Amino acid sequence: MSIHWLGSAPGARMLTFYPLDLRKVNVTTTRFWERAPAVRREAGAAERVVVSERPAHTEHTIEAGRHSERLLAIENVSLEYRSRERIVRATQDVSFDVYGADRFVLLGPSGCGKSTLLKAIAGFVEPVSGSISLAGEPVRGPGADRVVVFQEFDQLPPWKTVAENVAFPLRVARKLPRAEARERALHYLDKVGLAAFADAYPHTLSGGMKQRVAIARALAMQPRVLLMDEPFAALDALTRRKMQEELLRLWDDARFTLLFVTHSIEEALVVGNRILLLSPHPGRVRAEVNSHAYSHASMGGVDFRESLARIHRLLFDTDTDTDTETEAVKEASR
Ligand code: ADP
Ligand code: MG
Repeated sequence: MSIHWLGSAPGARMLTFYPLDLRKVNVTTTRFWERAPAVRREAGAAERVVVSERPAHTEHTIEAGRHSERLLAIENVSLEYRSRERIVRATQDVSFDVYGADRFVLLGPSGCGKSTLLKAIAGFVEPVSGSISLAGEPVRGPGADRVVVFQEFDQLPPWKTVAENVAFPLRVARKLPRAEARERALHYLDKVGLAAFADAYPHTLSGGMKQRVAIARALAMQPRVLLMDEPFAALDALTRRKMQEELLRLWDDARFTLLFVTHSIEEALVVGNRILLLSPHPGRVRAEVNSHAYSHASMGGVDFRESLARIHRLLFDTDTDTDTETEAVKEASR
């Protein structure tokens, strides 16, 4: 089966049978590295527009009441893709911290380097400058402590049942015995409402159900950080909203640490407690905003719409013109 792991570069498409076994994926990505190696270069003196509304995590820490240690530290990270013809700079001097139990969102327009940042944190791409550390340890490659859920519905090997899909990485990466892996798989499938589909095959599931399996598989691994790259972007609006609600419910239950990528301001406000705003390509930090007060219930409200319009302005650097406001408000009421 062909799984689209690493964007659209030549060599990014590869064969793998168990996408969650990150060590195995690392092996399969070797060819990607040969074709698109990261370049070690000093980042130039970058101009940065940081409108920090810090300390955003302080309020969250009070809200969460626990797990408040700094887990991920991203410091001045610049990322590039290099081919024979050209170098594409994906992000420039990006810094942020993710604390335990954060629902941290990377928000920015398409092409601003969100996926590349996530891949760097997952250990698939090495920064050309800057550093990434997890719980104080530098990230040097993929590991089972970081699990990624992607947008694509083809993350699940079709020849394995739903339960086998969830159990497999537990057996390979976590070394659980078969019975224990299945038990844990069933537990997490139950959490995403799919207990009845444990023995079904992926092709019999809807897109939303497949994403739920991918989420169950990721959570079952009990990673230190759950990385999600636009996981709901390919779903219809109603399913997308339902999935956002379910994710928040799961978070409420387990208080895992989430790093969530989206290009939707509305989704960022609903899903995140903190949002990092990235400029258009190459992605630089524009601002960090605190969004823990928002939920689906606040959508359409005055505060929510104002935040939406403000984030839109911060992202796209526009003046307070009425067109922008109107567009943002339209997006809010969609
Ligand atoms: P986003 O996820 O925010 O849409 P990406 O991280 O996918 O952005 O891409 C950031 C930039 O890097 C874009 O300009 C994109 O074209 C480029 N890019 C992404 N993947 C590759 C690749 N494998 N090879 C070369 N350029 C790439
Ligand atoms: Mg992307």
